[in-house]
Formats: sequence, structure tokens, C-alpha cells
Amino acid sequence: MQQIQMVDLKGQYQQIKTDIDQAIQAVIDQAAFINGGAVGTFNTALSAYHQGAYVQSCGNGTDALQIALMALELEPGDEIITPAFTYFATVEVVLLLGLKPVFVDVDPQTFNLDPAQLEAAISNKTRAIVPVHLFGQCADMEAILAIAQKHQLKVIEDNAQSIGGSITCADGRIRQTGLMGDISCLSFFPSKNLGCYGDGGALLTKDEALYKKIKAIANHGQYQKYHHERVGINSRLDTLQAAILSVKLKQLDQYNLARQQVAAAYDAGFKHNTHIKTPFKTPGTTHVYHQYTLTLSDDIDRDQLKAALAEKGIPTMIYYPLPCHQQKALTSIYPEQGNFPVAEHLSRKVLSLPIHTEMFEEQIAYIIEQVNQQTGN
Ligand SMILES: *Cc1c(COP(=O)(O)O)cnc(C)c1O
Repeated sequence: MQQIQMVDLKGQYQQIKTDIDQAIQAVIDQAAFINGGAVGTFNTALSAYHQGAYVQSCGNGTDALQIALMALELEPGDEIITPAFTYFATVEVVLLLGLKPVFVDVDPQTFNLDPAQLEAAISNKTRAIVPVHLFGQCADMEAILAIAQKHQLKVIEDNAQSIGGSITCADGRIRQTGLMGDISCLSFFPSKNLGCYGDGGALLTKDEALYKKIKAIANHGQYQKYHHERVGINSRLDTLQAAILSVKLKQLDQYNLARQQVAAAYDAGFKHNTHIKTPFKTPGTTHVYHQYTLTLSDDIDRDQLKAALAEKGIPTMIYYPLPCHQQKALTSIYPEQGNFPVAEHLSRKVLSLPIHTEMFEEQIAYIIEQVNQQTGN
């Protein structure tokens, strides 16, 4: 059996090698390394994938979040609501801009921002909500958007982990992740569902005026070359990465399907295991399984399980071992943080299994067998 990896980027490359190599060579042949033609081509393709939304690609997903917040014209001390359980980048950009992160606990089933606790976190300083579609599953956007509208708050979707996902609304309408908020942010970090071979990111919006602002902010605050109307940043998608992403975007739905098949096999394999909880799938959502994250029962020692699986050749990861409200980068600025018991519990009890687009059936079967064995089932 082939060695099991959390993500198999080499195996994935082998499947698309001819197209990727050609795309890279074409960029080198043209020697247009900054904002070369491949960037525009990719932006257009990404827009088409998102029903024609405006696309601004940028250097990485963290920059995308920062640019999105900068585009909202906020004042220092304005409050931004984020889930307490996410990758810290979501919170870091808020701090970086002198804004104040305010946390809402997550739902123990979906790991996403719990809308039932959202209104209690809103104050007269709240300006925006940044829901995260964590691990590949869309947050409860219908509820979040209704509350945002009621309080006139902007919504920035952190869609770094869930490109290609969707939810079905109460009226039966299917809505794609990244097209529900005012702005949404993508990351093309290599291990993401749509990953490049380095860093990359993008912002999406359906609002033309907002798009123009985003575009200027990502480009040194210029609306017109050498005329700097505001302080922006320099955040560009590399032309080589854009060329690679155009090849991979064509595969994205197939890649997400491959992840869903691995997840379905895991779900079936762990069905009778009472010591682990498999990822909950909200009815009507398309879970794209950026991660397949187990919640361990209290009687399972996570470190022990992780070590035992590693010994059997099965890598696992802990996303995330410390919730946002307990991160020193935050508490050194805002020491007064409440309790977010679900986020705290999850950070002690989650464990992510290998999931990617190139997994073999025998690897999946072996992982199921070993996890069941090690957890006493
Ligand atoms: C990956 C990720 C980011 C940051 O993306 P980078 O491209 O690594 O900067 C932000 N938020 C979430 C939820 C992520 O998973």
C-alpha cells in the first residue's frame, strides 16, 4: 500500500502534469511575470464559476480578508464578529487593522458560527460579521444574513475552505458559498480544495463599486497608475500561480466529488463507532470536505490516538488546538474574553483524518480499520 498522506499534491500533479507543465512554460515563454495574461484569464474563469461575480485575485487568503475589511471603511475600535473556532487569520487581520474582534461560539455539530448566539454579540459598534465556512461546510448563512440585514451589518464570507460548496435555502433556492455576503474571500494555499503551487487568494463581490475599491486597495490604493488615492497594499496573484489555477479550476468539481467519496466511505466505516462523531452534514448543504474532522468522545485520549495512528502510518492533524479567543496575539490586546465552551471543547477533542483527491480504497479501508481498532470499536 502507498504511504498515506494528509494531502497528496504529487499524486494530483501526476494526473494533470501535461496541462500544468504547458501552462507554466507558456508564462515563462511570454515572460510577463507580473499581471500577465494568465491572471486575467483565471479571474474570468473564477468569475464564470461564480455566476459572473466580480473577481479580484490577490496574494493569499489572509490578504483577501484584510483587503475586504479595508474596503468597508471602518474606524479604529469598530467591532467585527467572527466565530471563536477558526483559523486565526480571520481574526488576525481584524487586529492588524486596529479593529476589535468579537467572538460568537460555534455550533457543536457543524463547527460553524452559531446564529442563535449572534445577536447577543452585536453592539452599536459592530460593523461586520465574518462567518467562516469551516472544513468545507457552509455556515448557516440564511440565519446570519437575516440578522446582518436587521442590524445593517456587512458580511464577509471567509470561504478559504469551501469553494464549490452550497446550501439550499428555505425557499428551495440553492446558493453557492462565496456569493451570499457582500464580499467573500478565497485562499489557494496548496492544500485547499482549489490550491496552487505557492500562495494565492481572491476576493469576490457582486457590487461593482465595492469591486473597484477592492481592486484599488490590492494595488497600492491606485485607481489610476501612479495616482494613489488611499493607502492600499501590494497583493497580487502570481502569473505562474494563475496559470496553474486555470488548469485546476477545471478539475475543481471533480476534486470536490473525490473528497465527498472519501467522506462517504469514512461515514459508513465509522457508523457503529460510538467513541467518535463523524462530521455532521447539514441537510441541504454540499459539504466539500476540506477536512474530515472527527469529534472524539470524552473517554478517548486524543494524543494517544494520534500517536497510535502515526505508528500505523496514518497521519492526522488537529485543526485547531487553541480557539481564537485564547490566542495570545488577541489576549495581549484584549484580555477580557468570555467563555466559548463549544470552541474550547472542540479544540480539545477534534482530530482530522487524511482526505484528498488521490486516496486509494485500500488506504481508506485501512484507516477505517485502524481508527476503529484504536478507539476500541
Ligand atoms: C487558509 C485560510 C486562510 C488564509 O489563507 P492563506 O492563503 O493561507 O493566507 C484564512 N481563513 C481560513 C479559514 C483558512 O483556512
